[in-house]
Amino acid sequence: MKQQPKIIIAIDGYSSTGKSSFAKLIAERLGYIHLDSGALYRAVTLHGLRNGTIANGKIDAEALVATLPGLEVSQRPDTYIGEENVEGLIRQMEVSSYVSPVSAIPAVRVFVDDNLHKMASGGGVVMDGRDIGTTVFPNAELKIFMQADEMVRAMRRYKETTDPGTTFIDVLHNLRDRDLRDSTRDVSPLRKADDAIVLDNTCMTMDQEIQWLVDLLNSKYGFSL
Ligand code: C5P
Repeated sequence: MKQQPKIIIAIDGYSSTGKSSFAKLIAERLGYIHLDSGALYRAVTLHGLRNGTIANGKIDAEALVATLPGLEVSQRPDTYIGEENVEGLIRQMEVSSYVSPVSAIPAVRVFVDDNLHKMASGGGVVMDGRDIGTTVFPNAELKIFMQADEMVRAMRRYKETTDPGTTFIDVLHNLRDRDLRDSTRDVSPLRKADDAIVLDNTCMTMDQEIQWLVDLLNSKYGFSL
């Protein structure tokens, strides 16, 4: 493959807009690394559930934060805690139900941002989340903000659910709850960066999304894909 420019592509947007699947495919196409910031918030949440600082509907933020120096998270590209691959475990409904309040804890955001910056230090990165273009990489060369109809998003996520007993309504409520919490929190709320380009994929296939991006990279960023 011809050497392509090494830029930072920041992809933000609402829950279940397909950011991570899109980012993963782009990274493969460009020979970039893909970092899924939401997976790191999920890993912190799983860690809290395991060590008891998250239990019975409550998060002991101070106690959770105190355990972060001992937590080693990485993406290779699956998400790891130490040497354990936790990619499947972090997608479970129990983690989903706590992850938004966990991600609103300022010290948790600092912990995740530090890890993201370390992992992205070589450039050539596609990173997805809620605040990548606004906070984590405000100077990213390309910022994309993804959105899609809520019912379409809930149906896509429901089809991926492996938890027995999880209904479409559970998924829809979780998605609404996370969008509301994520966009109204004090620290790094979900919002479109002023210079982000909107990609609404309600009626698009993944192939069409990739083609949209390829055209953009070729026409505006000097790629030849
Ligand atoms: O992307 P995903 O849905 O896996 O993210 C899980 C949660 O992590 C989000 O609902 C949000 O609360 C949090 N998150 C965040 N900032 C990011 C990425 C994810 O607050 N950059």
